[in-house]
Amino acid sequence: MNLGEAVLEQLKNEVSDVEYSRYIKQLVYCTQDSKSDLARFIAPNMLIANWIKTKYSNKIAHLFEQKTGIRPLIEIVLERARATKEKNSAAKAVAPKPAIHSLLNPSYTFENFVQGTSNAFAYTAAKSVAEKPGAIYNPLFIYGGVGFGKTHLLQAIGNINQDQGKFVIYTTVEQFINDFTRHLRNGTMDRFREKYRQCDLLLIDDIQFLSGKEATQEEFFHTFNELKSANKQIILTADRKPKEIAGVEDRLISRFEWGLIADIQAPELETKIAIIKKKCEINRVNLDNEVIDYIATVIDTNAREIEGILSKLHAYSKMMSKELSLEFTKDVLKDHIKEKRENITVEDIIKVVSKELNIKISEIRSKVRTKNVVYARRIAIYLTRNLTQNTMPELAKYYGMKDHTSVSHTMKAIQKLIKEDAEFRIKIEELSNKITSSE
Ligand code: ADP
Ligand code: MG
Repeated sequence: MNLGEAVLEQLKNEVSDVEYSRYIKQLVYCTQDSKSDLARFIAPNMLIANWIKTKYSNKIAHLFEQKTGIRPLIEIVLERARATKEKNSAAKAVAPKPAIHSLLNPSYTFENFVQGTSNAFAYTAAKSVAEKPGAIYNPLFIYGGVGFGKTHLLQAIGNINQDQGKFVIYTTVEQFINDFTRHLRNGTMDRFREKYRQCDLLLIDDIQFLSGKEATQEEFFHTFNELKSANKQIILTADRKPKEIAGVEDRLISRFEWGLIADIQAPELETKIAIIKKKCEINRVNLDNEVIDYIATVIDTNAREIEGILSKLHAYSKMMSKELSLEFTKDVLKDHIKEKRENITVEDIIKVVSKELNIKISEIRSKVRTKNVVYARRIAIYLTRNLTQNTMPELAKYYGMKDHTSVSHTMKAIQKLIKEDAEFRIKIEELSNKITSSE
């Protein structure tokens, strides 16, 4: 077994069966290309590569560091199917281990979390709960958009308490459901209950996915009551407020509101810059301020892409022995930006908006001023500006507006709404996802 395989083997003991077989098992360690400070794995597709990058690169780096004393940069590259097939057939022989609760990412700490006005309230709430679990706000419910730092804060609470020897369970709702189903099928529900009811802190990520899962909700209801009455801390995250989660029983929703509800907003530019600096520090990447500013303006509202971008930059600069100058960064990120945006056209956007909001395409592009049409037009403009490279004058022309100041006015109005109205924000995110994921 080589070093990379040994690391993956170790990871296997610490994640659920599903996550292991779906993601980690698919990785192949690239011995030739890896060095003491760079570990390269091959993934069969983009989805798996991204999943591993966002969820596991820190942990994998940590495991390497434990073995070699050097924390390598983790690179996940895409490769031909052959390598994966070999790996799959080799891995089949190994019997799956029972699921243990998922790992905490050791770098998701309070020290590594950048505070800004967008997250100050949630940060303070998380900090208080971390210091006195079970004693103040129970449950703590943190909500906000993708990449705003919910998982990071949740795990920061977990890390502190785990370090103090407390029994912490961190799980995504998906894992929780899988675990529940497996125990139910195997007739081992008593073990399931024992595990979840004996922990000191139960951290459940993305609770909105409980929607429609009635049997799991029923079980979770009892777990919740049990933990709450024993003064054990429960912390939940979601992409929206409890009240806005559809398909979850009222008695659970009302329990989610028992403690404290804290929201996280999109990071402001300064916070984004500070987050990039923090990530550079953690990943030991040296970047000039102008490069950092550039990255901050290139990425979207969420911080999820930052780590991927940094490791890409780092790897490219090593490979080509070039300095990480602004010019070089722009060059490397050209593909990144293009990849994200090249396939999206203004027509794609208008088509999705028209379908979802039930307004004709011709109306969206017309000068009609009825309320619904204006609403759809403004959303289409906002999304076009964010998802394509079109300039404001181009947008004004396309959407039949007077000039670029009208476009700029629309952008501001929509940004304000997004900030103030969570339901609207979710709607925009959903539309945006529909557009970027449609072929
Ligand atoms: P969410 O769970 O809200 O979708 P995550 O917690 O997964 O978002 O955050 C995405 C990435 O951005 C993570 O790498 C996280 O460490 C980083 N991040 C987000 N907000 C901050 C912050 N305020 N300080 C430091 N890192 C952050
Ligand atoms: Mg998350």
